[in-house]
Amino acid sequence: MISQDKQLHFLLIPLMSQSHIIPLTDFAKLLAQHGINVSIITTPLNAQRYKSLITQSLKFNLKIQLIPLHFPCEELGLPKGCENMDSLPSTNLYKEFFLACETLKKPLEKIIQKLETKPSCIVSTGGLSWTQEIADKFKIPRYVFQTISCFALLCSQEIETRNSQLPNETTTKQSDDVQSVVHQIKWSQNLARGTLINTFDELEPFYVDEYKKIMKNVFCVGPVSLCNKKVDEIINRGNEGSVDNEHSYLTWLNSMKPKSVVYVSFGSLCHMSFLQIKEIGLGLESSNVPFVWIIRGLNVSSEVKKWLSDENFEEKVKGRGIIIKGWAPQLMILSHPSVGGFLTHCGWNSTLEGITCGVPMITFPMFADQFYNEKLIVDVLKIGIRVGIEEKNKVLVKKEEVKKAINQLMNEGFESKERRKRTKELAIMSKEAMQESGSSYLNIKLLIQDVMQLVNN
Ligand code: UDP
Repeated sequence: MISQDKQLHFLLIPLMSQSHIIPLTDFAKLLAQHGINVSIITTPLNAQRYKSLITQSLKFNLKIQLIPLHFPCEELGLPKGCENMDSLPSTNLYKEFFLACETLKKPLEKIIQKLETKPSCIVSTGGLSWTQEIADKFKIPRYVFQTISCFALLCSQEIETRNSQLPNETTTKQSDDVQSVVHQIKWSQNLARGTLINTFDELEPFYVDEYKKIMKNVFCVGPVSLCNKKVDEIINRGNEGSVDNEHSYLTWLNSMKPKSVVYVSFGSLCHMSFLQIKEIGLGLESSNVPFVWIIRGLNVSSEVKKWLSDENFEEKVKGRGIIIKGWAPQLMILSHPSVGGFLTHCGWNSTLEGITCGVPMITFPMFADQFYNEKLIVDVLKIGIRVGIEEKNKVLVKKEEVKKAINQLMNEGFESKERRKRTKELAIMSKEAMQESGSSYLNIKLLIQDVMQLVNN
């Protein structure tokens, strides 16, 4: 804990999507461990997802509070109860959702006006350009919390988001809208006091240095998931409360050989066609490798359910494979010693979690920064192999390709061993970065000093 002249108060504002809420929640814990008062802006339904954070905060005396703001979905053109991107019934509603989030600006301004002392700083995730307007209005420094890598940040500085990187259903009109949102986000980032990135200096040193040349006050503060040390923190991270079965997975995982299981998950938002899900299933079945396969959100369609039941799929793979239909305790599974491979959509949080757990990856990107992360995993870090998705030509990945990639990743050949060794080395480096006197730990201290100096001036 650093000595402080004034009690600092950080206001954290995540985009209401699991891949923003989860790392920002972890970051809140890290800040609170440094003695900072933290408030997180949320909405009533999202607040329920913070249950475990609040329990832990009370237990460990961390000063973290939630500020729920009313989010009238139906008035805002969204279906009832859609307070998080992962509850939207279609990816076509992303634009409406982004716009709806902006309506939180006014109530948030009122909250800030009512506070006895104004917050020392605002930390908000990259997509929320309207939070910069609040920061400017109240003269509060804002730091952008980036949930993507430096490598991806640099790539996206050079190249505007290509149509092939947008979700499948995106129309040309929506694609233009996305470009205008991207423009606004970049504009607000340039006005921010600094940038916090969920990565660590040693993971991508060249790209961190390059990014620091074009942006001011860059602090790499991750991997923030490593703040979760106790079993209940690891199991309940981002939990929707739909999994009542963690302990049976754990018993099953405990019975498996070390590094023998492949974990298959496509994050909180990816929407796949039924045919693609079927090819993945058939690939897993024919690979003969033990697996845990997550099918969640929009992917649990009636077609998928019917196919699983017509094929008697779960019965056929019983003992060797588990399907979780719903929110999975990803960090718990990845950190289990029996897990030796990760078939991933390459979301940045998932990528980092794979790295911290020392699990090599099969890359199956679908949109946005996921294609950049694939390049980082396969070509730069050399800790994964491609399943063979073509960015420009989105064709179905066939079961043979899924099977081939799994067998290639999980075999005992020289290449696989080298890949495992490199991933393990990065896992060790990630832990060192977060330890006292590690690079990310020191960067968090530097950030706090930066805020302190602004407050004292
Ligand atoms: N996650 C999880 N259980 C699930 C699905 C996702 O815990 O069933 C977590 C995962 O550990 C990660 C986050 O949700 O922290 C997903 O973020 P990521 O950037 O990987 O992908 P996105 O959801 O943005 O596609």
